[in-house]
Amino acid sequence: MSRVCTICSHEQGDDIDRALVMGLPNRRIAAQYGTTEQAVRRHKDKHLPTLLAESQRHVRADTLMARLEHYTHSAHSIRTKAEKSGDLRTALAAIRELVRIVELQERLIGEIKDTATVNVLVAPEWLQLRTALLDILQPFPEVRALVAGELVRLEAAA
Ligand SMILES: [Zn+2]
Repeated sequence: MSRVCTICSHEQGDDIDRALVMGLPNRRIAAQYGTTEQAVRRHKDKHLPTLLAESQRHVRADTLMARLEHYTHSAHSIRTKAEKSGDLRTALAAIRELVRIVELQERLIGEIKDTATVNVLVAPEWLQLRTALLDILQPFPEVRALVAGELVRLEAAA
């Protein structure tokens, strides 16, 4: 018996995938998109890895970087809202996601270096994102220093 996946057929399925990639809890995603935790978990286990693998194979580096930039904006806006309402735990979670995005970029850059000749570190999108990231992290000097150090290391290795 095969059941249709309610997340794959969900009209905001892309947003749900994005939320999963950002590591938001299944319960929160289910609540936000009016679905069940079980459906989210099932989709995450069975379909998301395939979707990610496909997109990694097919999507060009610039598109991926643009997506990461989109995540950066999302995390930034979550952080701003959370700070305005004094919800520092959520603000901190958003910061953590921003750091994870940098880690993801590092992995992405590693893969690109293995397989292609594109140097994303000189792409305008990268430079924009780099500036945006450091900007966003300004109120958090310790995290900013860590990220900046990592960027310098990455760029030196490129
Ligand atoms: Zn699915």
